[in-house]
Amino acid sequence: MKRIVVKFGGSSLADVDRIRGCAEMVRGASAECRVVTVVSAMGGVTDTLLELADAAAAGNRSVSYKLLGELRSRHEEAAAALGASEAVALLLDQLDTLVAGVSAVGELTPRSRDAVVSFGERLSSRLMAAALDGRAIEGLEAGIVTDDNHGEAEPLMALSLHQVRENLGDPLERGESLVVTGFVAGTQHGVISTIGRGGSDYTATILGAGLGADEIWICSDVDGLMSADPRIVPEAKLLDAISFAESIEMGQFGAKSMHPRALEPAAEHKIPVRIRHSFNVDCAGTLITEDVSRGHAIRSVLLLKKCALLNIAGAAMVGRPGTAARIFQALADAGVNVQMISQTVSEAGISIVVAGAQLERARAALERKLLRTKAARHVNVEEGVSVVAVVGSAMRGSPGVAGRVFSAAAERGVNIEAIAQGSSELSICFVVQGDAGPDAVRALHEAFDLRV
Ligand code: ASP
Ligand code: MG
Repeated sequence: MKRIVVKFGGSSLADVDRIRGCAEMVRGASAECRVVTVVSAMGGVTDTLLELADAAAAGNRSVSYKLLGELRSRHEEAAAALGASEAVALLLDQLDTLVAGVSAVGELTPRSRDAVVSFGERLSSRLMAAALDGRAIEGLEAGIVTDDNHGEAEPLMALSLHQVRENLGDPLERGESLVVTGFVAGTQHGVISTIGRGGSDYTATILGAGLGADEIWICSDVDGLMSADPRIVPEAKLLDAISFAESIEMGQFGAKSMHPRALEPAAEHKIPVRIRHSFNVDCAGTLITEDVSRGHAIRSVLLLKKCALLNIAGAAMVGRPGTAARIFQALADAGVNVQMISQTVSEAGISIVVAGAQLERARAALERKLLRTKAARHVNVEEGVSVVAVVGSAMRGSPGVAGRVFSAAAERGVNIEAIAQGSSELSICFVVQGDAGPDAVRALHEAFDLRV
């Protein structure tokens, strides 16, 4: 029998009806496959738990009470309907105790924050296990071991894959219905850790790789990946297949915000990943595979909004090794994530795109490090810009794609402020004024005829 790993996102688990709907899908798939289910926390619960942890550490009792109460009633209600009351009550009591401990100490370490936030998936796994008459398994029990970088712990991959096979292989073959907590794992010392926001996707691909699954399904409230955001381009179409490289490129643009490393284990072990809707089961979704036959030069046009463009300029930068290093080091030290980079061959200017929310931090860091040492002359900033990207691996080595991109933008009167293309030739990105973004996307979607 085929083996599949099916992961459900938080919005698909937001209430009893949806949990039942997900269980329905798993049962359907179980008729033909061995299925391991991976769950996120119920929608919104991870954020609530993080807020709860902070409130407890700050000694804010009224807020912690309120949040604990909300979490309790939501999970108790679902548990009562699904027959998981006992298991859920046990966990909720543990959470109470932990939160009381955090507030008594008045301090929150990354490790204790992980302990608090782990309850989201631990609770939802009990609910799903009850809905499926299955067994809830926590990440560490499944075999996923991480380093101790709490909050963003990195799975020790070889060990984890081996242990997953050892721990879950036989029960799966016996036809047991296994429900694994996404996002939550443990260190080598058995301490609970979490693998980064959105980490349930990563859990699913690690399990898939460990078990040698035939497919990994990432189920949420979208039908799959699209040729463009349908709110911008109503005639955008669902992509039935794309490559891992393309989907990683698209992921940067929040096409479906996945954990950044989630696709790695699947890509490495050549296990196809299917992005699909949890309830619209007739729609096969988007299959991400290693190789996809070449069709269109580009597959998708994406828009990243609310960005800021920083232009760093000055003759002192020309021919001076280390300027770029200094710029990026300054940004890295300030915790700024760089979204796009471009530099002209004259070397007199470097343009950088960051999220709008990080602009002030980026500007301050650059001014402090560069202007004072005269490594650059000025840092100009422009807020409210957007990045448009066209993504498609078939553009590689096919001349004329950039020409078509820029003529299409020009015909719409869209002004282009900076351009970047990596040598992988998987995408071309450019910066436009924020209000020109949607128009540029429509123009490109049309120019490349992505409807069909
Ligand atoms: N519940 C975690 C989060 O919200 C993990 C996940 O949903 O994948 O980030
Ligand atoms: Mg989530």
